[in-house]
Amino acid sequence: MTETTSALSTDPLPAPRSARFAEALRQAVADGLLGEDQPVAGFLDAEGVRRSVAALRDAFDAVPGVSVLHTFAAKAASLVPVLRLLAACGMGCEVASPGELRLAVEAGFAPETIVLDSPAKTREELRLAMALGVAVNADSFDELRRIGELRSPESASVLGLRVNPQVGSGSIGAMSTATATSKFGVPLRDPGVREQVVRAFAERPWLTRLHAHVGSQGCPLELIAEGVAETYRLAEEINEAVGARRITGIDIGGGLPVNFADEEDRPAFSDYVSVLRAAAPGLFDGRYGLVTEFGRSLLAKNGFIGARVEYTKDAGGRRIALTHAGAQVATRTVFMPDAWPLRIGAFDGQGRPRGGPPMVQDIAGPCCFAGDVVAHARELPELREGDFVALYDTGAYYFSTPWAYNSLPRPAVYGFTVGPDGSGVRFARVRDAQSLDSVAAESGLAHADALTGLGTGRRPATRRGRSQDL
Ligand SMILES: *Cc1c(COP(=O)(O)O)cnc(C)c1O
Repeated sequence: MTETTSALSTDPLPAPRSARFAEALRQAVADGLLGEDQPVAGFLDAEGVRRSVAALRDAFDAVPGVSVLHTFAAKAASLVPVLRLLAACGMGCEVASPGELRLAVEAGFAPETIVLDSPAKTREELRLAMALGVAVNADSFDELRRIGELRSPESASVLGLRVNPQVGSGSIGAMSTATATSKFGVPLRDPGVREQVVRAFAERPWLTRLHAHVGSQGCPLELIAEGVAETYRLAEEINEAVGARRITGIDIGGGLPVNFADEEDRPAFSDYVSVLRAAAPGLFDGRYGLVTEFGRSLLAKNGFIGARVEYTKDAGGRRIALTHAGAQVATRTVFMPDAWPLRIGAFDGQGRPRGGPPMVQDIAGPCCFAGDVVAHARELPELREGDFVALYDTGAYYFSTPWAYNSLPRPAVYGFTVGPDGSGVRFARVRDAQSLDSVAAESGLAHADALTGLGTGRRPATRRGRSQDL
């Protein structure tokens, strides 16, 4: 596919990431994409994304004979142009809701490259997925029964079962999906469950895939590999018990952690492949088609948030910079600052890197609650009103997934490329900034009189227990 080849071209070598980002921020300020009227926006380095996909592909292609479908976990950057770029790079898409499935279809992923994972799929979702022919991983035995009732033999969907290998937790509990009591998958080490899984496959010739996603940020590679190896051993056991190559594919999930401490991509996809090969050599011998579902590790380091410093103040001996990037775009960092620290860059009013001696400052956001601080006691050149900050490594899960707190609008998102000599930035609009009309509409403007008219006797609000307005 020539399109794929050109999308993955890796020449010529571009300037280092920090230099590209600095140039993009300077140009964004010069072009008015960031400024007094547009005080916060997300930026994504399109060339960097292509390179990350190439690194993922190269890492698995280094093992001869194994066939892999790399899907992108849509929740990590649920923006149609981003998904379309990834489709053009030859990736598939992992989705976990009707909305994500819609985005994947709009982005142009072929149905056979889409995988649906979710712990709460409705009958309607399952019907639609199987009509489209996208792969479905059941999350429980109950869902397996539903799929058995709803599937038609003509469906092209590959059907699988998600298991929880229960190998334990990483450093962030909320990101760890293979604990003993995780809500995801069937708990493989609970009494009797492994046998029940083997029976489920023996009884269902159409069930051909095993799926495990051990966890995300905070899980060491060895822990993830142990969960994948356990899943591989289960596949071998099932095929042995069934007496046939029933399981033809293993979906090993995503979850490669991202280094938020500096600019380096660490661990690399190739590190993960080495750890996986050591833990489960047979996984790579070509008998199983593999599926991956990476999100954060493909996008995080290829994006940043730019935000204007509106004011600065001193309180209790601490300098505080009040910016427009807070919990609405960096929700996890604000609520769990130790688990999700972000690197911050300081730029002047023209978007040029700020120099000067470091000074301890808090970088706060615009939300009206005291914890809305994205970096505590950080040493940075002194920030002033009208300056800009960059929140690095926010290309996944941050600006693409804003929180509507304080009725703050979704910020605009731009993709960019930088010429090989480090200048010549080109921007493409990925998402418009949300308008105040849209904020009002999402806040029930069309039903403005709904409550003042309720219960006054002027208008019967309910009839036989159902609202007329519904
Ligand atoms: C969130 C998720 C992923 C992606 O995780 P990352 O840490 O972003 O790589 C993959 N698979 C499933 C099932 C997920 O829930």
